[in-house]
Amino acid sequence: MLRSADCGSLRSENTDDQVTLAGWIGRRRDHGGIIFLDLRDRSGIVQIVFNPETAPEAARIAEELRPEWVVQVKGTVNRRPDGSDNPAIATGEIEVMASEVTVMNRSLTPPFYIEDDAEADESLRLRYRYLDLRRPPMLHNLTLRHEVVKYIRNFLNDRDFLEVETPILIKSTPEGARDFLVPSRMQPGNFYALPQSPQQMKQLLMVAGVERYYQIARCFRDEDLRADRQLEFTQLDLEMSFVEEEDILNLTEELYTGMIESVTPEKTLRKPFPRISHQEAMERYASDKPDLRFGLEMTDVSDLAKETEFRVFLSTVEGGGQIKGIVGPGQAQFVTGQVKELEDTAKAAGAGGLVYIRYRGTNPVGQLTSEEILESAGLRMPPEWHQRLADKMGAGPGDMILLMAGRQPRLNTWLSAMRTHVSELLELTDPNELAFAFVTSFPLFDWNEDAKRWDSSHHPFTSPADGQEADLDGDDLGDIKSKAYDLVCNGSELASGSIRIHNRQLQEKIFGILGHSKEDTEAQFGQILEAFEYGAPPHGGIAPGIDRLVAILCDSPSIRDVIAFPKTQSGSDLLFDAPTPVDPKQLEELSLESTYKPE
Ligand code: ASP
Repeated sequence: MLRSADCGSLRSENTDDQVTLAGWIGRRRDHGGIIFLDLRDRSGIVQIVFNPETAPEAARIAEELRPEWVVQVKGTVNRRPDGSDNPAIATGEIEVMASEVTVMNRSLTPPFYIEDDAEADESLRLRYRYLDLRRPPMLHNLTLRHEVVKYIRNFLNDRDFLEVETPILIKSTPEGARDFLVPSRMQPGNFYALPQSPQQMKQLLMVAGVERYYQIARCFRDEDLRADRQLEFTQLDLEMSFVEEEDILNLTEELYTGMIESVTPEKTLRKPFPRISHQEAMERYASDKPDLRFGLEMTDVSDLAKETEFRVFLSTVEGGGQIKGIVGPGQAQFVTGQVKELEDTAKAAGAGGLVYIRYRGTNPVGQLTSEEILESAGLRMPPEWHQRLADKMGAGPGDMILLMAGRQPRLNTWLSAMRTHVSELLELTDPNELAFAFVTSFPLFDWNEDAKRWDSSHHPFTSPADGQEADLDGDDLGDIKSKAYDLVCNGSELASGSIRIHNRQLQEKIFGILGHSKEDTEAQFGQILEAFEYGAPPHGGIAPGIDRLVAILCDSPSIRDVIAFPKTQSGSDLLFDAPTPVDPKQLEELSLESTYKPE
């Protein structure tokens, strides 16, 4: 070994130990001829002292050392003199008095400091990712990710799950996104697809009698990278036979609570995880991934709004829309600029506007004067109406009611943006709190207005809710519930899953509703339909995303910070400079020709 101890492991108990360390040079300070250098390895940082009087040769070499050079240092652990402890680092009570130093490698001047706070632009960090990952917070993220995956593996192994690998080159398995395609050289004109998830394969493993499967699976979806997404991402993919929905939810809850209590014990969890139906989530929080760290629940006041003469309200209700809103607690004293910010939020979300009513007095709302009730839309309603509105919404003096009018599903998008904004304004969230919940009973289908057809709201393998199979022959397909569920946390979706269909006829019927012809169904899904005819057990599963979970546990704003080599929003790998054109010969071998003409 080129070293006898890790830099970050040394403590005052090691005083007088002879150690050999190896690592990278960090900050340097010179004091009256004595040189202090930070030496960093994965375990942390330790201060090395070079004294020209006691170790002249080492001190001479130390003069030349520059940031990020790799060195081996031999020396003695010394308790720091009184008053010079550095509580900011774990090794802050000691230093190492160097007797020898060997340069193992030099470094160019790094494009940014290798320190906790990266001031550097993210594209520079991605371009030099191997330097960025040297920064302690990034190493911390990689370590935490490792701990999460290790916990998952141990947990599932202890419960008799089999980890099974599934192929990356497969036939397209639709999950609603665009496939990445890989041309086949041996079969010209034919393509593999990269898995959007191992969905069909894990179901086939259930038919195979595996009963309990998992895999830390890479999934690929060729989507425009809105928000914080990646073209490839990692899921814990799992599937079980002979289970019902509650069995999967309980297992997931046990896994998450155990993992978080072990990996990030500083986080607070609410147990048990509430289960709310999709419908209730939409009604109360206007979102299928509600942030439950705070209330700010929605109230539908369409009936009261109809009593006004406000045209927007009346026409919305007549047109089948709703008037819904939230109460901003204590927001009545908001000044014009703050109210304008709320209006801007509404507009940015796509809403036509925001109606607000401020109750500025201290009496019961119904007794306030018209100066105390400030309305944005010139509603001018009697105090008695205001009392009924306030009662219905749970508002009191000092509060502000925020209302929006529109049709679903857009209204909920606006309301949800407003709810999030108000929670941020009022600082209602504690970053250490994790509010998990299961959202259940999703609709089986969503109407796709652009394509004028029904889409699966989860994926086509999801079972309809008990007792609703007959409704597949009716007209109200939008009312059919499914056995799909999501795990959400602090406003993000962390996992999706469902109890599956395991019967050929039912599965074929679903494909028919989704607009697949018989031939198309056979060509695309023949393998799984056939497997269902050979004794497919009842089964279901879930697929928790690893990237987002780790980002939440690391308090990272972006999943890119918890992925070793992520791509940018435009799908570029700045380190390898991918994607790039390929040699025309390679295309020829694949019987391909590019029709792309640069503009
Ligand atoms: N394959 C699904 C997905 O990736 C998850 C599941 O249903 O298990 O969302």
